[in-house]
Amino acid sequence: MKDAQGRKAVANGFDFSQGLAGLNADEAALVRRREKVLGTMGPLFYDRPLHVVAGTGTHLLGADGEDYLDCYNNVACVGHSNPHVRQAVADQLGRQNTHSRYLQDEVLDYAERLVATLPDAIDHVAFTNSGSESNDLALRMARVATGHMGVVVTQGAYHGITSLVASVSPSFGTGLPLAPFLATVRVDDALHGADGADASADAAWAVLGPRFKQAFDALEHGGYGVSCVLIDEAMSSDGILPGACGWIARLADAVHARGGLLVSDEVQAGFGRMGGVLWGFQRHGADADIVTMGKPMGNGIPVGGVAYKHPIGDVFASCTRYFNTFGGNPVSMRAAGAVMDEIERLGLVAHAQAMGDRLAEGLRGILRGHARFGGLRHAGLFLGIDVTDGAARPDGAAARAVVNALRDDGHVLISAAGPGDAVLKVRPPLVFDDSDAARLLDAMQRICDSGLMDR
Ligand code: PMP
Repeated sequence: MKDAQGRKAVANGFDFSQGLAGLNADEAALVRRREKVLGTMGPLFYDRPLHVVAGTGTHLLGADGEDYLDCYNNVACVGHSNPHVRQAVADQLGRQNTHSRYLQDEVLDYAERLVATLPDAIDHVAFTNSGSESNDLALRMARVATGHMGVVVTQGAYHGITSLVASVSPSFGTGLPLAPFLATVRVDDALHGADGADASADAAWAVLGPRFKQAFDALEHGGYGVSCVLIDEAMSSDGILPGACGWIARLADAVHARGGLLVSDEVQAGFGRMGGVLWGFQRHGADADIVTMGKPMGNGIPVGGVAYKHPIGDVFASCTRYFNTFGGNPVSMRAAGAVMDEIERLGLVAHAQAMGDRLAEGLRGILRGHARFGGLRHAGLFLGIDVTDGAARPDGAAARAVVNALRDDGHVLISAAGPGDAVLKVRPPLVFDDSDAARLLDAMQRICDSGLMDR
């Protein structure tokens, strides 16, 4: 999809060609400044962009003095301006923040703690500064360890912005060519029924097993072999398809049988987002080889990680090396440790499951019966709601209208994703509580009362 000036449209993106009508003087001035110096390469959310000046917990304060409920932020997983994270960062900044080529306690304290949350075999970790860097390193490690080049991802996958990772991210579209060593597999029609209910692992694998086989065959016939399947356990950009637990365990077996690895991209799914377990691959009981992390890891401090079975790293170390100037720096490590403290102290993994189930049930109750409601899927506090044209076809324009109405009328922030950007994406900080849920439900009720989900 393109905007009016022919740029690639972004879900819930401000259309710079729409002009500044409807914006107040402050917003219009900032949009102008932004366009002048940052250009239009990077998206800006909403028909009427939001000027944010502060945040606490699940709330953001607008420059207009209004309180906004943040239902879209998986980075601030333990809440905006979390005092414990702030304290840890400030304390470490006041001590030292050098690189990892010296002996330091902070990186070791966090690394030991992190690998302790993973299966015994995933016993080593390297640190990065973003999810993209994590996936980039994971792909290089998988290549070296297997001696193969081929990569398999889902049809709508997004894995990040480095040249290598972008070349295996079909959600960017065809503006830049995808890698010749990439095979993609469609999953959006196999994981859920029409009402959003999970397909069983057996039913899902009956459809997906042959598709992955075909992808592996194509890479082998092309001479690339299979280095890995790189998979976002939340299937976020495919339209939020958490699916039934179990089928990814079979995928792991299938890729192992081809001599490849399973790389679990936990940038979205990790740190408890899916509820009940800390890591998305654990929902499936899958034998992952490499686990990549980012976004919520530092609650806004840039930090990512690549955890792996150590033989993979041993092969890598025997022929090349990994050093990253900021990776594993003490400030990032202290932030990440403080996030882990908060996840444990507040019981956020169990909370995400219970709260996500309650929220999903509440939203279904409100949306059911409205013509444009096409079903709701969720795991933990990651929810996707299909908006249709009333005849089961995805309707991105209608989803966009709901996203903007929630922002304007309810001061509730969500966004859209998936095919045609027609899936409402609800993914609040994990500290989202019952009063926040009540506010979101109330706002959605008003959207439905206004007729927006029927027209
Ligand atoms: N993997 C997934 C599944 C993601 O959603 C993202 C970011 N949206 C990334 C990787 C890239 O992370 P980052 O933006 O931190 O580089």
